[in-house]
Amino acid sequence: MSASPTRVLVLNSGSSSVKYQLLDMRDESRLATGLVERIGERTSRVEHTLLTGAEPETRTREGRVADHDEALDAVAAELSRDGLGLDSPELLAVGHRIVHGGRLFDGPTRVDWHVEREIERLVPVAPLHNPAGLAGIRTARRLNPSLPQVAVFDTAFHAHMPEAASRYALDTAVAEAHRIRRYGAHGTSHAYVSRATAELLGRPYEETNTIVLHLGNGASAAAVRGGRSVDTSMGLTPLEGLVMGTRSGDIDPAVVFHLMRNASMSAEDVDVLLNKKSGLYGLCGDNDMREITRRADEGDRTARLAFDVYVHRLRKYIGAYTAVLGRVDALVFTAGVGENSALVRAAAVEGLTGFGLAVDPERNAVREKRPRVISPEGTPVTVAVVPTDEELEIARQTYGLLGEGGDRG
Ligand code: ADP
Repeated sequence: MSASPTRVLVLNSGSSSVKYQLLDMRDESRLATGLVERIGERTSRVEHTLLTGAEPETRTREGRVADHDEALDAVAAELSRDGLGLDSPELLAVGHRIVHGGRLFDGPTRVDWHVEREIERLVPVAPLHNPAGLAGIRTARRLNPSLPQVAVFDTAFHAHMPEAASRYALDTAVAEAHRIRRYGAHGTSHAYVSRATAELLGRPYEETNTIVLHLGNGASAAAVRGGRSVDTSMGLTPLEGLVMGTRSGDIDPAVVFHLMRNASMSAEDVDVLLNKKSGLYGLCGDNDMREITRRADEGDRTARLAFDVYVHRLRKYIGAYTAVLGRVDALVFTAGVGENSALVRAAAVEGLTGFGLAVDPERNAVREKRPRVISPEGTPVTVAVVPTDEELEIARQTYGLLGEGGDRG
């Protein structure tokens, strides 16, 4: 009898890219990783790295990849060249990152026609991302119809937020008819990072209260009480909350109809303005924190202001979530900005000793790819940096559902 399959292919299909990783869940090792980017543009790029040898082996090729269907064909072809194709008997399942799971999905879910239809029904609230996720599911099925597929939703971790946090103060009938509530996002990252933080602290996850700041190009904060998300800054869509690379985050909703009435902007125009031309980019013309801090350092006042607005919003959420949680054990930074910008981390907690928060300058300056504490010894709240790993979390959840000991249903 052959051994049970232990490999999981994780697919993260974004609006114009597909990232993937093949993992062996016996030891959580990575066998291959890669990405297809600029899908639909004239020169797309496929980069595939095989990790089974002594040294990583990377193959890159450029050429047009018209859509997600073709992108996945390219991924499958690269994997097949290394004998790791979608038909390989060691492959247990494909785990898909799906951005929006609405209220229905609160954990990893085996994909069937019903699940697929629900993901499709949520396209209006995730117009760029859910169709990409669906394309991933459909192409994987075309390539190997008998291979199990699992959807891991960005919203799932927040699905049981208390209603006081998830409801908007809107007319109930309107909210219900249009399924308007706060769903949150980045849940896979918040789940992974909050658990890893409890491990770093050496505390049971169920007894640890954490504020997670996921600061990437998209950014969100979450208040996690005993392993459950009790509040998060993204809402119906990922537009709400923190200042992001190109998204405004929180804004007076009156700005929307003010612009529509007085600036001849359509709903579409305002959508593009708030999602693509605002945030750090809107404030100073750059969305990369490295560039912004470099410019601010050279005395550029616009960049300095962008940094200050960004940090001011962060501090407001730290204060708010301290109140939501009552007792905070850890404040943790993750994702591109959170893991790399000592300046942002220091500014975010500066002067918050009244909240039990402080950063040790030397610890904060350390650059390392592993979880670490950056607060001084003995402060009431541990401040930490924990690199996120959404792909590993998706693989773990997929394996947990279908692998050895899991429910194969
Ligand atoms: P995404 O949301 O696209 O997954 P990431 O988590 O990869 O984003 O974060 C990307 C962002 O991280 C970049 O836009 C940049 O602002 C920031 N970043 C990356 N490296 C650094 C660094 N060394 N210092 C400050 N910011 C950084």
